[in-house]
Amino acid sequence: MARFLCRCGEILSNSEVPSGIELRVYTDREWEQIASSDSVDPLLIPFPKYEVWRCPKCERIYVFEEGNQSAIKVYKLEE
Ligand SMILES: [Zn+2]
Repeated sequence: MARFLCRCGEILSNSEVPSGIELRVYTDREWEQIASSDSVDPLLIPFPKYEVWRCPKCERIYVFEEGNQSAIKVYKLEE
């Protein structure tokens, strides 16, 4: 469980499961490796390399890397 203050002022939290805040984003290459392995059980599918959060208020996207508390990328909606 984690909390994060969005730049718009909204407090984001993934404590509610499913939260709707945290997105599971895999690169096509990552997904190919998972799909071609023997772990086809949905409970055994590994988490993606990056943790991605989306603010429901301003729709900013934050990308986190394992072991890094602050976002490595922040995307703001243009249109
Ligand atoms: Zn926001």
